[in-house]
Amino acid sequence: MTATIKVLDDFLANKIAAGEVVERPASVVKELVENALDAGSRSIQVDVKEGGLSYIRINDDGQGIPSDECKNAFERHATSKIHSSRDLFRIETLGFRGEALPSIASVSSLTLRTSQGEGPGIELQIQGGAINNETTIGRSRGTEVIVENLFFNTPARLKYMKTIHTELGHISDCINRMAMAHPDVSFQLRHNDRVLLKTNGNGDLLQVVASIYGVSTAQHMIKIDASSLDFQVTGYIAKPEVTRSSRQYMSTFINERYVRHYGLNRAIHDGFHTLLPVGRHPVVVLHINMDPQLVDVNVHPSKLEVRLSKEKELVDTVSEAIKKALSREQLIPDVAKPR
Ligand code: ADP
Ligand code: MG
Repeated sequence: MTATIKVLDDFLANKIAAGEVVERPASVVKELVENALDAGSRSIQVDVKEGGLSYIRINDDGQGIPSDECKNAFERHATSKIHSSRDLFRIETLGFRGEALPSIASVSSLTLRTSQGEGPGIELQIQGGAINNETTIGRSRGTEVIVENLFFNTPARLKYMKTIHTELGHISDCINRMAMAHPDVSFQLRHNDRVLLKTNGNGDLLQVVASIYGVSTAQHMIKIDASSLDFQVTGYIAKPEVTRSSRQYMSTFINERYVRHYGLNRAIHDGFHTLLPVGRHPVVVLHINMDPQLVDVNVHPSKLEVRLSKEKELVDTVSEAIKKALSREQLIPDVAKPR
């Protein structure tokens, strides 16, 4: 076969990117909620139907998108969040790749309604990446994105989807983490009109934890508050009498972004020392704050993985913070006291 080398057209390039960025309905929810948070929203409503496969709606009260920039938001690598490679090494927003909207739009029917609160807003309808309709609308400040018939034009991916129950589980986990990452933002998740989570955005992390893990787990939680030269570690851990068989209940947030990090999980386990039964994991919600220059989030499109510049110092800060809290509760001998 003689092949000519050609640059892919935008439709195809976006569909290929979607393969990585939009793994399942929960990935759409994650990207759209990240956009809502980056827009400074105080209240975010998420509505899904059929595990997100037929319908996902994210409504926010953030800053909105200027009418004349709306179409740009669906161009590949178009972002308002970084402008230079300097910015890439100190990311302060959840998004920065400019890939989510074009990717999602290329594999669904998408409606976007947005307004900056002054003057009219705009509505765009996009089908499989092609803009079909653009109208002027009235709406309050904020943005609403509706994603229908996800993967309608990528049958192989659609076939790979699990049951509604499983897909909903992933969405629910995502919103739970977003709510724990942002106790100062009010979240609501509804599935087929049933409310699954509602937080009031008053900034109280323990209240959010109670609405997710239940009041009795929250009652067994102790506060973490520690810092070292470069890191501040705050949050809650459940007393070691409350454990789980899954690591899922260890949530770590770096600069309000949920991350999965092997070293951090080890540090948490080390902090509990021998108090955890073999094969059991603690319930932990930790917020770690640091200079954004110390963390590289540009590792994978999902932005779940990070590389840390001062990992050893952070790992020590986290395990010491947990030990200190447990010894304060007299669950382990005071580490600070000479024996
Ligand atoms: P990224 O978040 O990486 O910049 P996206 O494709 O997710 O890329 O979004 C493209 C741009 O569209 C964003 O940079 C932002 O300017 C705008 N945008 C998307 N969603 C919202 C929203 N909910 N509110 C305000 N602006 C938004
Ligand atoms: Mg984004």
